[in-house]
Parts: sequence; structure tokens; C-alpha cells
Amino acid sequence: MKNYQKAIIFLPDGMADEPLPELNGLTPLEYAHTPAMDSIAAQGVNGTFRTLPPGLPTSSDVANMSVLGFQPELNYPGRGPIEAASQNIQLAPDDVAWRCNLVYVSSDNVLRDYSAGHLSDADSAILMAALKEEFDSPEVTFHHGVSYRNLLVLHGKQFSDQIDYQKPDSSQDIPVAELKLKPLDDSPEAAYTVKFLEELSAKTAKFLAAHPLNATKESPANWIWPWSPGYRPAMQMFSERYAGRSGAVISAVDVIKGLGKCSGMEVIEVPGATGFLDTNYSGKVAAALDAIEKYDLVYVHVEAIDECSHLGDLKLKLQAIEAFDANIVAPIMKAMAGKNCNFAVLPDHPVPIKLRKHTTDPVPLAICGKNFSPDKVTKFSESQAPTGALGLLQKEELVRTLLEL
Ligand SMILES: [Zn+2]
Repeated sequence: MKNYQKAIIFLPDGMADEPLPELNGLTPLEYAHTPAMDSIAAQGVNGTFRTLPPGLPTSSDVANMSVLGFQPELNYPGRGPIEAASQNIQLAPDDVAWRCNLVYVSSDNVLRDYSAGHLSDADSAILMAALKEEFDSPEVTFHHGVSYRNLLVLHGKQFSDQIDYQKPDSSQDIPVAELKLKPLDDSPEAAYTVKFLEELSAKTAKFLAAHPLNATKESPANWIWPWSPGYRPAMQMFSERYAGRSGAVISAVDVIKGLGKCSGMEVIEVPGATGFLDTNYSGKVAAALDAIEKYDLVYVHVEAIDECSHLGDLKLKLQAIEAFDANIVAPIMKAMAGKNCNFAVLPDHPVPIKLRKHTTDPVPLAICGKNFSPDKVTKFSESQAPTGALGLLQKEELVRTLLEL
């Protein structure tokens, strides 16, 4: 096969940021010590990539769909159905799947923490099982996911997915009364869905507040937060989209695993992948090196940097960026030296630490491999990448460039 090319995409979730006075006008990526990502930029070509098209949620599922070239502006099913696919929850045609965070709402009814203090997976499992036991019915079922990231599914024609919602990680320190679900159309189904979920939220809030597990917590998981609803997804297969090539994803979080399942990519489970700084880096490296032997494109996603950005913790963000570089990018590049493989690094979207939420600016992108001649860029950064030879890529251009299709 002519030009048969493999590729690895390194995806540090939410890494891009803005210049900060406390870093002498540098961004966290520019300030952090990142020799491995810099070597991709210096050996290869640089540019930017548009991940968040106008008119869609500014969320990671949309952004990662874009990176993989699946054009969310045409095909976005909603976060709920993507994560349901990841958890092998079979959705009936009438089912509306919602992402359902367990969050902390303070006694003055303000949303204080979208993650309920990064609720442990074990505690979340207990609370979700309790919710299931108490509230599951023919109309609604609760499903435990990973940590605070859970799901609920509404069953039946009486429900609609045409509901406006607020993303909890973009809505912290705002009164709950300003964050209510709203019907997006005049249908009785949309009105009923809002009413049903408001009543369910009130009942579950009372139940969770009284749960013994929440008694001693600083940020108790005392509220459910349904968002990004949708029906069973119908996405094009990766191999159909890319000339019969195969792909695999490695990630701790359901949103990426779900995108993989919805598009027929292999989803590789790594024990101890947590979605935070304590993730199993060496397990992810071993999984990636094994996967690239079997698949044409391997997508290595790390969630921790995004989480540190939403926390607004600069020190932790710098630490997470350096850990990604040293524990993921460096060992994989070292092990792959001399092999026939292209590499790309790009975040899925910026999370400026000052804003603590996603923004839609194109992200920096660097690509290297034996068929790419270096441009003048020497360091992987938000300010240098746009000056590189690649220009602005979008839609399928990244994966096609990497697989040399
Ligand atoms: Zn993201």
C-alpha cells in the first residue's frame, strides 16, 4: 500500500490558555517545561485547528468530535447519548439520555461545585445506587458512570430532547434559580420534560442531603444536574470516513470512550485511568504502544489538565501539563523513535484559568513525521503555532493529514 501511514494524536484536554501576568505574560503551556511537545513542534509543522463550531455547546464531546473529523455541526447527538454508548447502555428509540452530574449546591441555593469536590468513584457508585433504588421507574433510570459524571435516561414518547440547559462546569457560583432548564419549543413533551426533571431534582436533593455519606463532606454531592440530552446516536464509522483505516481511543472519561464506540473505533480500557492527576500514566503509555501495532490511528486523551483549569488552580495546571509531557508524550515518542508513525499534539479547546470555562478560539497544533519538513516554530505554544506552515485546519483535515490520505 502506497504511503501507508500510522499516527498517534496526543490530546491534553483543555490545555490552551491565555497569557498571564503572574507568568510574566506567558501562557501556562509556554511557562511549563515541555520538551517532548516542543520537540514535535520543532521537528514538524505547526498551525491551529478549529474545534468548536459556532452554534453548538462549547463542550469536550463537540471538540473531540471535531478533532476526529466527525463534523459535530452535522452529527452531534448530545453528551448524554455519547456517554450512554460508552457504558453500553442500549437506548430505545424513544429514550432521551442525559449526562447527570452529582454537584454541590450550597444552602443559599448557589451551584458551588460541578464535581462535588471531585467526588470519588466509590462514593459516587454508592450515591447513584441509592438514587436508582429510590427513584428508578418506568419513566426514568439512573446510571453510574465515572466519579461525578453519571447519566439518567428518560423513557417514553412523553419526553423531548429539545431542552435548553446550563453546563455545570461553566455555571459555578451562580444561583440555581438562574440556571433552570427551559423548553426549546412549544411542544407538550418539552414542557413535560422540564416539569418532570424539576420535580425529580427537588426530590433527589432532599434525599441526597439526608444521605449519611454526605454528612461530613465539605462539598457534598447533594444535587443532580441533568444536561446535554439526546437520542440514540447515528455516527459515521471511522473506517468508512477514512478509507478503511482503523482507529483506537485511550481515555479515562466516558465522553471520549463513547465517541470511540459511536464511530466504531476500538476503546481500550486502562485500569487506574482516573481522569485526574493521579491517573495511570504508564498504563496509558503501554496501551498506546500496544494499540499502534494493531490500529492505524491511536488517540491518547488525558483529562487532568482540563480539570485543573476548571478548578482555577494555576500551580496544579502547570503540574498537570508537565506530567502529560513527561509521562505520556516523552515515553511514547522515545519508544516509537525510527518507526513509521506521524504524531500530532493539540488540546481540544482552551480553558483559560482566569475564566474557568471553555472558549472557542482555535487551538495550537503541531504535527511531525518523516514526510513533514520543519517550519520555523521551535516551541509548542499558543503564540507560536499560528505562525507555522500548517495554517488553520478544520473538519477532516487533521486526520487526513496524519494518515496521509
Ligand atoms: Zn475538553
